[in-house]
Amino acid sequence: MKITFYGGAETVTGSCYLVTTDTKEKILVDCGLFQGNKTVKERNYGDFPFNPAEIDWVLLTHAHIDHSGRIPKLYKKGYKGPVITTNITKEMCSVMLPDSGHIQEMEIERKNRKNLRAGKPLLEPIYTAADAEDCIKHFDGKQYNELIKLNDNISIRFKDAGHILGSAIIEVWVKNAQGSKKITFTGDLGGYEKPLVNDPEFLEETDYLLIESTYGSRSHDEDMTRAGKLEAIIEETFKSGGNLVIPSFAVERTQDLLFDLNKLVEAGKISPSSIFVDSPLAIAITEIFCKNIDSCDEETQDFGRTSGKCPLLINNLRFTRTAEESKAINKIRSGAIIISASGMCDAGRIKHHLKHNLWRSNSTVLFIGYQAKGTLGRNILEGASKVKIHGEDVTVNARIESIKGYSSHADQEDLLKWIGNITNKPDLVFLVHGELEESSTLKSLIEQDYQIETHIPCYLEEYPLSTEAKPLCLSHEVRDKEVDLDEQLDSLMRQFYSVGKNLISDKKYQETEELIKEIKKKLIS
Ligand SMILES: [Zn+2]
Ligand SMILES: [Zn+2]
Repeated sequence: MKITFYGGAETVTGSCYLVTTDTKEKILVDCGLFQGNKTVKERNYGDFPFNPAEIDWVLLTHAHIDHSGRIPKLYKKGYKGPVITTNITKEMCSVMLPDSGHIQEMEIERKNRKNLRAGKPLLEPIYTAADAEDCIKHFDGKQYNELIKLNDNISIRFKDAGHILGSAIIEVWVKNAQGSKKITFTGDLGGYEKPLVNDPEFLEETDYLLIESTYGSRSHDEDMTRAGKLEAIIEETFKSGGNLVIPSFAVERTQDLLFDLNKLVEAGKISPSSIFVDSPLAIAITEIFCKNIDSCDEETQDFGRTSGKCPLLINNLRFTRTAEESKAINKIRSGAIIISASGMCDAGRIKHHLKHNLWRSNSTVLFIGYQAKGTLGRNILEGASKVKIHGEDVTVNARIESIKGYSSHADQEDLLKWIGNITNKPDLVFLVHGELEESSTLKSLIEQDYQIETHIPCYLEEYPLSTEAKPLCLSHEVRDKEVDLDEQLDSLMRQFYSVGKNLISDKKYQETEELIKEIKKKLIS
């Protein structure tokens, strides 16, 4: 048996893992879109590095696009089997994947307008909204904790991952000649005691564990509670006469935020003139939440019972579905809370709201979610004084705030606690879904605290699970060599500066200096 890492390795996005059994059955777990910088996004295009027609089953941990976003492409490229997931994930994907298809179409339309003018060949979207709608009929929704037999050798089970509504930890049992082995995929794992979702379920045993490591080196702890901080930011923004703009992921984050806002409004602590959810997808997902409140945690259900309505529906909440309604928000100068997607600000209506509020010193932009490297959100959060939106320079004068407590991911402490609670610890842990700095810190802690062998796989790495042979992680090797080369160049440069000028002509000195700089630049890029 072996596992191949086709995404979510040394990066947070593009989750995609292929298990190949000794009897050649192929199980693909997640098939998400790569997001973030251009190089990573390039992987969404072209052929898959495996043959989709050879895959027997696709298992899906949850609806987030970095886990589900390339599933329509799988069908376009020849996959014919089912996508087995939880019932709620199926329901969410039925709105999220067509939305993602629509975004691909719009992006390609924009690129093609440029290409046409430049005489370049036209591109095709990764998939269309229609392709996505078409693939939903292959989704097979299941309950949590139901043992599902895929065939005589393979069984699976979904456990609540507590990350977003419908999210699952997937346990996979594979029988082979040596006996039975179990691989567990955490998908994205939630933290403990969060509103709306349940805590992540514990695991009794597993032989191999693939665990996410988004916050492998960080803690979500803050001095104030997240609702307390939210209240303070709202109060200060309204006092200075501006709007509060919140880039928010349509799924879970928006609903978490609505729940907190509702509690603050009901307690009389804030009185915004209006709260807008300006994202058709976030509106559709909020409606799915309202239909499935009985799958939420006790606190949420209690709040709903007391108020007699969905706990996310605040009194002065407005869902803006059309482009006209969205544009009308731009006329509001103060007292509004504008929640819009995308959460990392690289697409969607949020860009318009940023354009209209970023330059105003009395408005606030509040980040409540992870911002991947290379996104507009990350640039603003890291203090850019000017950003480009729709080709226009926008000065950043607004107050920039962030609240960490809204993360729907486990932080370092939660991850270690979850592993610590596994009764029979795994023989081997793979750290996935994390940038290398995060995974590396977590790796040392797991090895130190639990003495479990822990590996950080790289993109396209193939890891044999049933033999002693250890794989070679090419990108680690290349990276080590790069560090070596970089150090050697630095030392060469130091030597050159100390003796160079006395030995060669000025012209030769300058030429050599330029050459060393050029090599260094190439190495860095
Ligand atoms: Zn997720
Ligand atoms: Zn994820």
